[in-house]
Amino acid sequence: MKTFYITTPIYYANSVPHLGHLYTMVVADTVARYKRQQGIETYFLTGTDEHGINIERAAERAGRTPKEQADYVVGYYKKMTAAFGLDTAHGGYDIFMRTTEPFHYEGVTEFWRRLARTKTPKGNDAIYKGHYEGWFCAACAAYKTEDEYAKPARPELPPTCLIHETPLDRVSEESYFFRLSDYDEDLLKLYESRPNFVQPESRLNEVKSFVAGGLQDLSISRLKSSVKWGVPVPDDPSHTMYVWFDALTNYITAIGFGNAERDKVAGFKKYWPGTHLVGKDILRFHAVYWPAFLMAADVEQPRNVIAHGMWVDATGRKMSKTLGNTIELDVLERFFPTDTVRYFCLREMVFGQDGRFGYEALIDRTNSDLASGLGNLSSRTLTMIGRYCDGVVPSGKIAEDRLLLAKRTGVDTDETTIAGFIEHARTQFLQHFENFAFSRALEVAWSIVARIDKMISDAKPWDLAKDPNQQQTLNAVLYRSAEALRWLSVMLYPVMPEAAQEIYTQLGFSESVGNVNPRELSWGGLPENTRIGEVKPLFPRIDKAKTLAAISASRSGTHATEADAVPEAATSSQTTPAPPMERATEADAVPGLASFIDIDDFAKVDLRVGEVISAERLPKSDKLLLMKIDIGEAEPRQVLAGIAEYYEPEKLIGRKVVVVANLKPRKLRGHESQGMVVAASIGEQGRPVIATFTEDVPNGARLK
Ligand SMILES: [Zn+2]
Repeated sequence: MKTFYITTPIYYANSVPHLGHLYTMVVADTVARYKRQQGIETYFLTGTDEHGINIERAAERAGRTPKEQADYVVGYYKKMTAAFGLDTAHGGYDIFMRTTEPFHYEGVTEFWRRLARTKTPKGNDAIYKGHYEGWFCAACAAYKTEDEYAKPARPELPPTCLIHETPLDRVSEESYFFRLSDYDEDLLKLYESRPNFVQPESRLNEVKSFVAGGLQDLSISRLKSSVKWGVPVPDDPSHTMYVWFDALTNYITAIGFGNAERDKVAGFKKYWPGTHLVGKDILRFHAVYWPAFLMAADVEQPRNVIAHGMWVDATGRKMSKTLGNTIELDVLERFFPTDTVRYFCLREMVFGQDGRFGYEALIDRTNSDLASGLGNLSSRTLTMIGRYCDGVVPSGKIAEDRLLLAKRTGVDTDETTIAGFIEHARTQFLQHFENFAFSRALEVAWSIVARIDKMISDAKPWDLAKDPNQQQTLNAVLYRSAEALRWLSVMLYPVMPEAAQEIYTQLGFSESVGNVNPRELSWGGLPENTRIGEVKPLFPRIDKAKTLAAISASRSGTHATEADAVPEAATSSQTTPAPPMERATEADAVPGLASFIDIDDFAKVDLRVGEVISAERLPKSDKLLLMKIDIGEAEPRQVLAGIAEYYEPEKLIGRKVVVVANLKPRKLRGHESQGMVVAASIGEQGRPVIATFTEDVPNGARLK
């Protein structure tokens, strides 16, 4: 039986979850669903790291015990994971690991003991007692790392505490050390022999050069008199384990290392080695320290360590509360369906690089890729099956004596062409998924959407439906798009579980799409005569201007929830937030030009690429043309335009035009006009010249 084990980092329980946490959970959840879908028994871990001085202090300030403080923060994590469908009840994680669990204490104690009796590859004791030396703030009662103190004005002076602004003392205390310096050669051998151990490759190179530069031994304990809140060092109760040592070990204690009861629930032998998903900022802990600990404990190395980039704002700046450019999880939850957030996270961050996250970009992607793309393909296909085939999936076969007729309409008579295209796309999709290149995998999936969209616009099923001789051609086009939708729903399930299931159900299937193995899809698997389900919109279009205004209103109000009361770090509680940035657009900078509109105003106009399907003169009117224009919807729009004096109707057919798609429908000479064709107005007569494109553009594409 194949098994798979994936972990997110366990998050430090001194602050409430933010976008970065949500992101790694979404990635891990996606990978877990992908593996399960293929029948691989999968275990997915996320959780919290709950020891150390920062939590001890936060608890003190809040008047709680450290465990109560951790429980309080974990409450937020549980709420978040439920809201985004990442918890066990929604088919997400298998364990929310907490380092305060008794089985973890037992497991990590066993792990320490193993290290304590080990010799390094160079024949020394792996753990030894020494002295830890560092800058200590008496008022904080804590050592300060480089980013927690201010450098002195003159080199002979000590640095000062960022919180207390008082000079720090150079203090040395007894500490246990792990002899990391003896593991450099073995670590380098590990990276050499397993080039995929750290991904992407650029990160592996960073790790290699760090190790090759020489390693220093690690302090792995603190005196209990300075840090009480931690796992006691076995056989020496005057020390507690350093929080990182205890936290890394969670990946094996969670599945049963060092605890028989826990082993029965999950299974250490069954699931280890695992895949660790980490942010690039904590790669060193996972790709250097952790492997060295495992070598010393004689435990197998992880399968691999996958380092992803960070989210920055829409303009590429680091997100921070001070800049006010963070993405708030409660805003995402309130304004966006979970699947759109998942899709955006996976589509927008190119593997290994930083990704940009903005509400506007999220709305744009939702509207273009999901509402107009996948959602529209699904609704138009199913609506047409409803309308032209009585709601039953037709046969995709074109009989010998109808092939010529089909060919005449431009429909490919050989369905193996489209089948071959989709099979090839599936292979690429899976390959990218295996390499954690989700963005590229999704690009490939959307090439299927584009291909099928084009097939529909070229074949014009609404015209085929008018000709009884073309029934088989029409059926073949509809079968092909429905079958392509089936493939897409199976492939996209790990990314968008709800929407994929919705498509699958609307196609008429009653089983769970999460149980269909994408590797086993074969063309033609959609049985003809399947009765399709009720057609419902998958991704309602988001009104951009309205939504952005609502988001900014929700952010500008008093925003002091209890969650904010949990300080992010000891230092951040002292930082005064900057006032909200004044909105300064270019337009505002020009005095006296009140006629400028905001980008939000422009965004209200929904301009679409359309293709003129038919055009005819309106009787008793020498000005109006009645046109049918395909703007990528299930049915073409009927649009009337006052251009009859200047354009021959038949010459307009097939022409790409720009349509104002959200103009309120109005009646002209008894005919409803569902939009407007954009044209330049030339000269005194106002001669219309229709706006068009010189490059090939798909119907329904949005102009912005
Ligand atoms: Zn201090």
